[in-house]
Amino acid sequence: LRKWLKEYCRRNGLLTLSVFAVAAGFALGFTLRGMNLSTQARMYLSFPGELLMRILKMLILPLITSSLMTGLSAMDSKASSRMGLLTVTYYLWTTFIAVVVGIILVIIIQPGSGMEMEGSRLGGGPIMTSADALLDLIRYAFLEMLRFPSQLPFSIDSDYTLDPSFVYVVPDERNPGDGRSVFLELTPAPEIIYKGVQGSSKQMNVLGIVIFSATMGLLLGRMGERGLPLVNVCQCINECVMKIINAAVWYFPFGIIFLIAGKILEIQDPSSVGKKLGMYTITVLAGLFVHGLILLPFFYLILTRKNPFSYIRGLLQALVIALATSSSSATLPITMKCLLENCHVDRQVARFVLPVGATINMDGTALYEAVAAIFIAQVNDYELDFGQLVTISITATAASIGAAGIPQAGLVTMVIVLTSVGLPPDDVTLIVAIDWVLDRFRTMINVLGDALAAGIIAHVCQKDIPAAEKVGKHSVTVTF
Ligand code: ASP
Repeated sequence: LRKWLKEYCRRNGLLTLSVFAVAAGFALGFTLRGMNLSTQARMYLSFPGELLMRILKMLILPLITSSLMTGLSAMDSKASSRMGLLTVTYYLWTTFIAVVVGIILVIIIQPGSGMEMEGSRLGGGPIMTSADALLDLIRYAFLEMLRFPSQLPFSIDSDYTLDPSFVYVVPDERNPGDGRSVFLELTPAPEIIYKGVQGSSKQMNVLGIVIFSATMGLLLGRMGERGLPLVNVCQCINECVMKIINAAVWYFPFGIIFLIAGKILEIQDPSSVGKKLGMYTITVLAGLFVHGLILLPFFYLILTRKNPFSYIRGLLQALVIALATSSSSATLPITMKCLLENCHVDRQVARFVLPVGATINMDGTALYEAVAAIFIAQVNDYELDFGQLVTISITATAASIGAAGIPQAGLVTMVIVLTSVGLPPDDVTLIVAIDWVLDRFRTMINVLGDALAAGIIAHVCQKDIPAAEKVGKHSVTVTF
């Protein structure tokens, strides 16, 4: 028994601890809710969780830049463009499928019909056409990429306010109108608040970093010998980051307990939320379940002829972290670790597919945006015709691409979906109360979607990828 226990702990110890930590976090949070803790006590309580988030965020920049640069520099241009095209096509396809699943379920279940809810005010909001909404999305994506926070996203920008406590870490960059260097992109930026609905905690411009690093990686690949020194530096950074992750994961179960408990202390009374939004919550969760545990594994099975569930078993650690942090970007280091160590996905592929996926591929978010928009229409007794459903499916897909991989980003980009069919954007407030829960589950599906995609792309691109010993033109070997 001792031998078995030792082997079990070696293989699954961390995962068991993390699952236990999630349960303990919920238990602790709900127990402490009744105790009326002071603000200071709450702050202390949240501290270990905050530290966890900071460790993960600290790793994102070096991980993304070094992964993309080494991954792409090692491939010839034909292989990298084929992989890029396959990845983007697969991502778009699965996101669209997720939206369709959401739309079908919300139309069948009708969670919002016959429901009286305070605060819905159809007709009060600005009406935009879907073309306007798409233009706004592009504007938003570029604003996010170039980080000009002084210009706020969307046409209805008078409704947006910036977090007044916003301060850049580097004093010289304090003027928000200035363009910012790529190395400053992960420093805190303003929060977007839409009529009191807080979109996200401090934003990170991961999309800009992905584009910059991917371009650098491609160029380094073309430079041959001359690019080698920088590629080697990136290899070293990548190796160090993975070592830090391996050490830091042992802290995570402890951090998770307080991350979740701290969040539970912040939320409003869950019993009042439960009655009103129960069916809506069930619809979103059912959609996430169907998409994440039936459709995506089915695609994996068909395209790779391998067992999707043993693959998913290797990802459990990343899924728990996604549940605890509500951020696919913050989970990225752990997803990378799981893919390389447990699922044995090819490094070159994982280094490209994962950072790009964490930024643009959000199946869970797209599904949720479609369900939420139609739910809000149902609450308002607003009949959507087929054309409007098509508009919702397009804008929900686009809005999920535009959403950053950070907590509750989807809630903000959902304004695009609502306005595209003439629903009042203010009505996002109807679903805010439950969003912190749904955010966790949709983030898990976002992460799962990226990871399954990496497995599929690695399988399909097998022939194109150079073997580890002769990585591209540079003969660089990496070991973690
Ligand atoms: N929290 C999600 C993620 O990080 C994004 C969202 O749907 O709000 O993937």
